[in-house]
Amino acid sequence: KTFEELGVSEAIRRAIEELGFEHPMPVQEEVIPYLLGNKNDVIALAQTGTGKTAAFGLPLLQKVDAQNRATQAIVLSPTRELCVQIADDLKDFSKYIDGLHVVPVYGGADIRPQIRAIKHGVQIVVATPGRLVDLINRGVMELSQVNNVVLDEADEMLNMGFSDSINAIFEQLPEDRNTLLFSATMSREVEKVAKSYLHDYKEIVV
Ligand code: AMP
Repeated sequence: KTFEELGVSEAIRRAIEELGFEHPMPVQEEVIPYLLGNKNDVIALAQTGTGKTAAFGLPLLQKVDAQNRATQAIVLSPTRELCVQIADDLKDFSKYIDGLHVVPVYGGADIRPQIRAIKHGVQIVVATPGRLVDLINRGVMELSQVNNVVLDEADEMLNMGFSDSINAIFEQLPEDRNTLLFSATMSREVEKVAKSYLHDYKEIVV
């Protein structure tokens, strides 16, 4: 299959072609049409290197309204390095989508530039859970229009003790949303999060 056959838009195809993506990887072939097609949730058991960032990233970028400056998607990730990497990938994929902004926010760094970036208006925020809770508590991060949520490396986030932060974030999220959970392993903890926050999900093993 081609990215076009999966339903990926022309603007995004132009960007990923420049990155050398010729054919979708297996996780992309499964996840992309599913996410573009309806409002169901997904659990994907996938390791790093399988192309999972584009699998969740391309549909997110395509579904977000770039003319609306409200935050419409959040990606939760365990570390600063991963947040930056994911945000950089999403920026590359969306280089031909006018007005679309992505920002990484993470702990252990000055919060002020992150606050400024969010106040400027960003459709997609890639965050470590603790820092996102901090930004919510400061009244900076507004979640009422977030209808797409990705938990990336969910097992890692839970191992790192982010479970309370994840729960606090989901308490603030609209009920009407798409939730995607990516994890290398399916632990009891991951299962608990999935049961609490995902509905009618499709499970994909790569
Ligand atoms: P990830 O699992 O998201 O970290 O992706 C692993 C690597 O594969 C990254 O360097 C991506 O840029 C690259 N990649 C993702 N999808 C494709 C594709 N369809 N064709 C070629 N490379 C890809």
